[in-house]
Amino acid sequence: MTNLRPKFTWPAPNASAEDVLRWGIGEFGEGLAICTSFQATGTVVLDMAACMTAGNVKVFSLDTGRLHAETYELIDKIRGRYGIAVELVAPDSAELTSMLTMHGPNLMYNSVSKRKLCCEIRKVRSLKRKLASLDAWVTGLRRNQSNARERIEKVAIDEEHGGIVKLAPLADWSAEQVFDYIARNDVPQHGLYARGYPSIGCAPCTRAIEPGEHPRAGRWWWEENGDGECGMHFSPRGDVRRDFDVLLDEVLPLRRPYLVK
Ligand code: SF4
Repeated sequence: MTNLRPKFTWPAPNASAEDVLRWGIGEFGEGLAICTSFQATGTVVLDMAACMTAGNVKVFSLDTGRLHAETYELIDKIRGRYGIAVELVAPDSAELTSMLTMHGPNLMYNSVSKRKLCCEIRKVRSLKRKLASLDAWVTGLRRNQSNARERIEKVAIDEEHGGIVKLAPLADWSAEQVFDYIARNDVPQHGLYARGYPSIGCAPCTRAIEPGEHPRAGRWWWEENGDGECGMHFSPRGDVRRDFDVLLDEVLPLRRPYLVK
């Protein structure tokens, strides 16, 4: 990764999603990758980028090992439609084994801290390892997805991940804009949307919602004091706090020298 402390001209705050994405691809080239869990917003970003580059864009996804079967089906559809070799980034096997041995496979239901520990091992640390090889990453985050996301910027320095650039081209899009784009461009969609899942993550932690519920109500629905986030999109202002450091130390006793900074 090169030192990218802003030497470039940033796009205007009100630049369109396409312009933000085009700017990122032009500025960072091979150093940029799209991170997606293949929800609607991620597939829109992926479709835009694939059209701009004729499929010559890097795409990766965090394969937690607990994804829905429908997610893997969609990955195959995406690969076929765009000719993109989606990179699936797996958790560190030693860390995963240690966590599962200490806390069991369904630790997420035992406490918010253990759920976040699972997210840390299966998602956050995998993401950190992957981002250490990049100059910029692109997400499908939108401001009105949750309170914790309402201050997302379209382009920002990601201090949590080594000061690389983080793009959220759809930050100011509504859900209606997302699904309108999908319909107009016939973008492949996740099979669980038709079964009432508005937000799709790991199988044990996502459910369908009832009419009138908030779209993220199907994520970690059993938690009373959770913040509804996994920690991947940590805010420097402290919107999403990490409160499981003791548990992490227990799971990684022999690996402390190798902790991802
Ligand atoms: S969403 Fe659930 S299964 Fe997936 S990493 Fe987080 S706690 Fe673990």
